[in-house]
Amino acid sequence: MLEIKNLHAELSEDSSVKILNGVNLTVEAGKVHAIMGPNGSGKSTLSYVLSGRDGYTVTEGSATLKGEDLLEMEPQERAAAGLFLAFQYPVEIPGVGNMTFLRTAVNAQRKARGEEELSAAEFLKVVRVKAKELQIDADMLKRPVNVGFSGGEKKRNEILQMAMLEPKMCILDETDSGLDVDAMKLVADGVNALRSEGRGFLVITHYQRLLDHIKPDVVHIMSGGRIIKTGGVELALEVEHNGYADILAEVK
Ligand code: ADP
Ligand code: MG
Ligand code: MG
Repeated sequence: MLEIKNLHAELSEDSSVKILNGVNLTVEAGKVHAIMGPNGSGKSTLSYVLSGRDGYTVTEGSATLKGEDLLEMEPQERAAAGLFLAFQYPVEIPGVGNMTFLRTAVNAQRKARGEEELSAAEFLKVVRVKAKELQIDADMLKRPVNVGFSGGEKKRNEILQMAMLEPKMCILDETDSGLDVDAMKLVADGVNALRSEGRGFLVITHYQRLLDHIKPDVVHIMSGGRIIKTGGVELALEVEHNGYADILAEVK
């Protein structure tokens, strides 16, 4: 599904800031891969570079989605190809209704894929069901995107976007940060409901607790802009008990 080879990236405005230093990672369809790692190891930057955010320059390596070169595409083309990123810090968009935003995004993607657009009535039917599952009330759908939402509401809104867009490859950047246990379970349930054979997940998290609810198939540890260790769930438990120090020392 997602294949990243020897990916190097630096800040566009300051090429001395090298953030990704040879990331190698393959996420198969139907699998959930988790990335853990100390603060500043490049986890968010990896998600930004994959989704096409400005400000980073790829200097080496490749990233493909179902064999298509992601790095050659505009951000909206990457989305239309099936890539989705749930932000670590969801953005507030004053003046744009949440419902309008979602419907515009869904229909832009359907159009890009050559599918019929959804009518207002059809869209409403789907969004109401999915919002209810995430305990997002009708009021939140009418308000401007994320404006005045609590931290937990913003994160649930990211998962609603994901559920509506039905991406092939989902990247969640610390979607659990700032959530209480109940909100985290809602988010995890939302993600688990979307797990399917044709879909891959990359779950970036600082803490092991999210992985109690979203059981990963593979766990990677990232440090210094590369994946330094790969294993199973036991790796997440090791980090939970001993922190990153032992793994960093072992790799060194
Ligand atoms: P993580 O998500 O693992 O905490 P980040 O990807 O946010 O790490 O950051 C990786 C490193 O790159 C950090 O040292 C961070 O300070 C640096 N970095 C990322 N983006 C920028 C930027 N726009 N300007 C300056 N430094 C940046
Ligand atoms: Mg961080
Ligand atoms: Mg981050």
